[in-house]
Amino acid sequence: MIILGAGPAGLTAAIYLARDALNPLVITGDLLGGQLTLTSLVENFPAFPEGILGPELMDLFKKQAERFGAELLYDRVTKVDFKSKPFKIFTENSQFEAEAVVIATGASAKLLGLEAERRLMGRGVSVCATCDGAFFRGKDVAVVGGGDSALEDALFLTKFANKVTIIHRRDKLRASLAMQQRAFSNPKISFKWNSVVKDILGEKSVEGVVVNDLKTGKIDTINVQGLFVAIGHEPATEVFRGQIELDERGYVVLKEGSMTSVEGVFAAGDVHDHRYRQAITAAGFGCMAAIDVERYLGLR
Ligand code: NAP
Repeated sequence: MIILGAGPAGLTAAIYLARDALNPLVITGDLLGGQLTLTSLVENFPAFPEGILGPELMDLFKKQAERFGAELLYDRVTKVDFKSKPFKIFTENSQFEAEAVVIATGASAKLLGLEAERRLMGRGVSVCATCDGAFFRGKDVAVVGGGDSALEDALFLTKFANKVTIIHRRDKLRASLAMQQRAFSNPKISFKWNSVVKDILGEKSVEGVVVNDLKTGKIDTINVQGLFVAIGHEPATEVFRGQIELDERGYVVLKEGSMTSVEGVFAAGDVHDHRYRQAITAAGFGCMAAIDVERYLGLR
């Protein structure tokens, strides 16, 4: 029994399967703990009334999985063969066989690629409005992007922020018309068209963003305390291409419950879920995958 990925989905699957004596091996990939290790305070994960730091929360997930005997391997999968059983999994350093596999490799938010973006991530720069919006009560924020995510984030942020500026690289939005209408009619939202973020100001927290107007060449500074990057996500599914069904954006397609197009291969979390993308939903999906694995192996 092999689990690929060690975020909330993979580690929850590991807790369930280890507790039921299935001795799962968790191949962690590059980011043990997943996307939550890139955030600071998490205030909406149930059972932590005061909030908890993302890395601390993920350390608790890991400890709980290890307590029941899950083994974590810090390695990266380079190739899989799901064409025949047992399934084969190749990593940078080894090769494994498994009766059943849970894919929980997650997704990552696309970033602008600025040095300041990485440095200030979790300190005013965020890729998750649902997670971090509440920290910006009464503040001015900007959102980058012109798709549904950017507009949804901007609309959500108006609940807390004073003013929300959407910075988009073109003069046309990609988002659905309904979403556009809602954004255009919200008095807290304004647009900075044909513009890209050149830099983010601030050492320990965001103090402003430097924006380049691509039409006029003009460089402006917008005074904001938060920058939400909402330019899309990428699921980590490259190694599964040609082995299981993926949708046109690369997300895993589920067939029945958490089962993929290959019987015995299951998926959980952001690797298939581009709708909710929350730690708690990923954990829920991890639990579902573990139960489906046990049913598949005839243990339930
Ligand atoms: P998306 O539709 O791919 O939009 C990404 C946006 O970011 C685009 O406007 C794009 O600009 C911009 N962008 C991409 N790379 C950029 C860069 N390097 N610098 C600056 N801007 C950049 O992604 P999404 O908004 O996350 O949506 C993904 C899918 O989920 C879509 O199918 C969407 O409809 C769906 N979704 C639906 C809802 C909903 O219905 N409530 C909510 C969220 C997402 P260009 O337009 O110039 O390419």
